[in-house]
Amino acid sequence: RLVVKVGSALLVSRDGTPRRKWLATLVAEIASARGRGQDVVVVSSGAIALGAARLVLPKGGRADLADAQAAAAVGQIALAELWSELLGGHGLTAAQLLLTLEDLEDRRRYLNATATLGRLLKAGAVPVVNENDSVATQEIRFGDNDRLAARVAQVARADAVLLLSDVDGLYDRSPADPAAQRVPVVRGINAEIHAMATGSSGSGMGSGGMTSKLQAAEIAERA
Ligand code: GLU
Repeated sequence: RLVVKVGSALLVSRDGTPRRKWLATLVAEIASARGRGQDVVVVSSGAIALGAARLVLPKGGRADLADAQAAAAVGQIALAELWSELLGGHGLTAAQLLLTLEDLEDRRRYLNATATLGRLLKAGAVPVVNENDSVATQEIRFGDNDRLAARVAQVARADAVLLLSDVDGLYDRSPADPAAQRVPVVRGINAEIHAMATGSSGSGMGSGGMTSKLQAAEIAERA
């Protein structure tokens, strides 16, 4: 059972339209994983980036929380339609789950989310999860889908969580630095590894970045 998280920069092009061609190749891979008998849960970003373009909001909809929440409300519909259409092309049924941090911190709601995901997978659907950005307030939101994906992996009792990004891995310093070296494998995350991750989203389209990816890996490792 896999959780596959897709970042905003992969899903949405600079002009705010979906990168359909790339997404179609990913969906084909998801379909073949399903064909091999693997369960797949998708965690999809991109609502804010898609919605901001439609509402013509500055800074990709991230100027303030109210903008981000409005953008997410518009973009989430487009995002759901996109996944539903592309998965449908492979005979797969998409299912949308919008979660907040609170849904996963409260035991009853956590168990309920586990049951829903389990039932959807059993019924053959492909759950597509995002944070419920339009209602989650600043203090009680994940803000990035990396940690959300790691928590979803826990909820779904997944064997692995894959974080797909426009960066090809962890670098020992900012990848913008020409001397930066890619670290092919990390076993165990410690202070030295954390120090390699710099700043937030490089594309500016999402909100994660390598810092939240390492935090996600820690959550997954602990689980
Ligand atoms: N939930 C946000 C969205 O759909 C993305 C958060 C992130 O960038 O990780 O736009």
